[in-house]
Amino acid sequence: MLDEFMQGFANAREVNLMRIKEAKDQGGKVVGIYCTFCPQELILAAGAIPVGLCGMSETPIAAAEETLPRNLCPLIKSSYGFAATETCPFFFFSDLIVGETTCDGKKKMFELMEDLKPVHVMQLPHLNNSQASLELWVGEVRRLKDRLEEELQVNISDQDIWEAIEVINQEKRAIKAMFDLNRADPPLLSGMEILTAAWSRSFSSDKGEMINNLNGLVEEVAHKPKNGRAKAPRVLLTGCPVGLGTEKVVRLTEELGAYVVAMENCSGYKTLELQTDTEGTDPIVALAEKYLSIPCSCMSPNPARLELLESMIEDFRADAVIDLTWQACHTYNIEAYEVGKLVKSKELPYLHLESDYSNSDLESLKVRIEAMLEMVDM
Ligand code: SF4
Ligand code: SF4
Repeated sequence: MLDEFMQGFANAREVNLMRIKEAKDQGGKVVGIYCTFCPQELILAAGAIPVGLCGMSETPIAAAEETLPRNLCPLIKSSYGFAATETCPFFFFSDLIVGETTCDGKKKMFELMEDLKPVHVMQLPHLNNSQASLELWVGEVRRLKDRLEEELQVNISDQDIWEAIEVINQEKRAIKAMFDLNRADPPLLSGMEILTAAWSRSFSSDKGEMINNLNGLVEEVAHKPKNGRAKAPRVLLTGCPVGLGTEKVVRLTEELGAYVVAMENCSGYKTLELQTDTEGTDPIVALAEKYLSIPCSCMSPNPARLELLESMIEDFRADAVIDLTWQACHTYNIEAYEVGKLVKSKELPYLHLESDYSNSDLESLKVRIEAMLEMVDM
């Protein structure tokens, strides 16, 4: 049964592609998003389908480098390359693209993407604990609502937004419950399994179905714990986003006999404890407050990431931490210093890896991960 659930998640991209095509044929709207800062509740409230477009493949990077500098993070180059080469069907079906001024590379890339599709860029403040930042971000969330209404020719009521907030809150709870299965020792799911399930949600055209599948998986696994899993080092992965296609560090770590028990990155646990408050009167303010508290390295300072990491090290009983930085991602690269200090203060092995989407460094990654695992005190 677990295999059936996992197969369903692994097939989500293809299945949802067909559904999105059908929805488009019937006049439905699709909005492409690149980052976890995008308030996808507004897209749902507009009656449109939000789809994750973050590039996780090396294939279109060469084409992207005809326009973008080579010395740029592979995620940005891959995302732009898919768009420029018209090889991402989800980009093709998107009526509007939503971007944010997160890191410098991404925000400048969105300027170029405007030649390919309508792009709406939200101006994200980088100080997340000030009233001025919150007011600016509330204004930006309202501006996105206005753009969605104009572009998609719909009216979005507060009630529509509250209903969408409830859906996304439920989805977050379901994904968190799946991740939390791995607090058990030995963990109940492999790193590749949680990555597959978590990643597939970004393509889901039916949030209700995705929530049911996640809850079904949790029920299945929680009541039938795997027996006989060997004792092995428990590794926590942090750093830049990873997805299917860029999972080499997760895969290598598990091939070397360790468990990747959780991922702190934004494609993993980073936002899962953030629920939109449903007690207020203005759903836009509620959304703005939640999204502004995401502990991404583009925030400065970003102490909440260290707090989250510290609690995850405890909760997931991590024996070691791997911090993955995609080449030319300055914000995560610089934060690696503080992350390393935190992990070492816990007397745990810490490994900072800098890599790209190619497989050219597989052997050296393997050697370095193996050396770190040997330092784990079992
Ligand atoms: S790491 Fe930060 S900027 Fe990059 S996709 Fe995640 S939340 Fe967005
Ligand atoms: S990985 Fe780093 S450089 Fe790349 S898009 Fe995310 S924050 Fe920007």
